[in-house]
Amino acid sequence: MTQSNDPVLSSVPLLDIKRGNESLIGEIMPVIEEVCRSGWFVLGPQCQQLETSMAELAGTPHGIACASGSDALLLALMAFDIGPGDEVLVPSFTFFATASAVTRLGATPVWVDIDPVTFNIDPERMKDAITDATRAVIPVHLFGQAAEMDAINEIARENGLKVIEDAAQAHGARYKGQAVGSLGDIGCFSFYPTKNLGGFGDGGMLVTSDDETAEKLRLLRVHGMHPRYYHQVIGINSRLDAIQAAVLNIKMPHLPEWTEQRRTNAARYDQLFAAAGLDGRFTLPATAEDRYHVWNQYTLRVPGGRRDELRTFLGDLKVGTEIYYPIALHQQECFRKLGLGDADLPETERATNEVLHLPIFPELTEAEQKTVVTRISEYCVEDARAEAA
Ligand SMILES: *Cc1c(COP(=O)(O)O)cnc(C)c1O
Repeated sequence: MTQSNDPVLSSVPLLDIKRGNESLIGEIMPVIEEVCRSGWFVLGPQCQQLETSMAELAGTPHGIACASGSDALLLALMAFDIGPGDEVLVPSFTFFATASAVTRLGATPVWVDIDPVTFNIDPERMKDAITDATRAVIPVHLFGQAAEMDAINEIARENGLKVIEDAAQAHGARYKGQAVGSLGDIGCFSFYPTKNLGGFGDGGMLVTSDDETAEKLRLLRVHGMHPRYYHQVIGINSRLDAIQAAVLNIKMPHLPEWTEQRRTNAARYDQLFAAAGLDGRFTLPATAEDRYHVWNQYTLRVPGGRRDELRTFLGDLKVGTEIYYPIALHQQECFRKLGLGDADLPETERATNEVLHLPIFPELTEAEQKTVVTRISEYCVEDARAEAA
């Protein structure tokens, strides 16, 4: 292991949202004031501007703002009339909302195992899970890397399935040069503060290339109401606040530079791990062919049952880490109670036991990254010493 002369910092945060916001606060406060003075608080021109720019980012003609990424998934399923008796293929290694949207409509999530390299739904396993009741698939572009969309779309086409992309962690990610959100029938984004593009609260966006679907989504997010107080279908209340849209409109032009910073940070971890001789000790995250990875997360695999021990070691030295996700969805109590706990998902379960997420946010400094890797080296030295004893 190489020694470096860089000072080791006394702490490194997993995420410091304040850094990114601080430089823009001077621009953001006046537009918030403008919204307050305008009296237009729900949807309106700020939301329309964001819909246009998100549709542009995704390469689709339509953007439909809503209240959260979770609602975007729910609205997408509603747009395709998915309900009781229907099955929807989902990964079990994802955030809860991917599957809860399905159960909220009375439909059944059918778990599909993941590709161990990308952590995304494995198209080969998808085929085994399809039945006569299967109506849709929700591929998640987990951690900022696009799922294997060609294979997924082909299987979906052959079996008449709708494809709803969960792009909550993948703003601006690309697959074979094409932006996520435009690869399936509907793309769902989140503006939760920790996402690659985050507001000052909750927010979400749907994108689609289909005019009719866009129309339906616009209706569903306002109680299915058109014209005023006449309801054609039963929708929900899921609209974006003008204040959130105004904040996001200021941030949007910075997304490409923030994404490049995340990519630089990921490449730097790769170099630092290699330089420290640790790249064989852990499995570093890999980018599959033809992907533009936007690194919402940098995912280390810690084999040999040592993940939690390493995390505690780092935590004691004030290096922030997280585990996305410590329990697979099929193992969650709420889904087990619904009889959805019985699934053979070896790669999903292995991932929940091995993954450890390191700080990767755009404003993370080189000194902070070096500190993270130095601390992990120290753990390895101690671990080797304990083994020898
Ligand atoms: C954050 C997230 C969501 C939900 O988005 P919210 O805006 O928090 O409701 C859905 N899916 C994935 C993969 C996410 O990371």
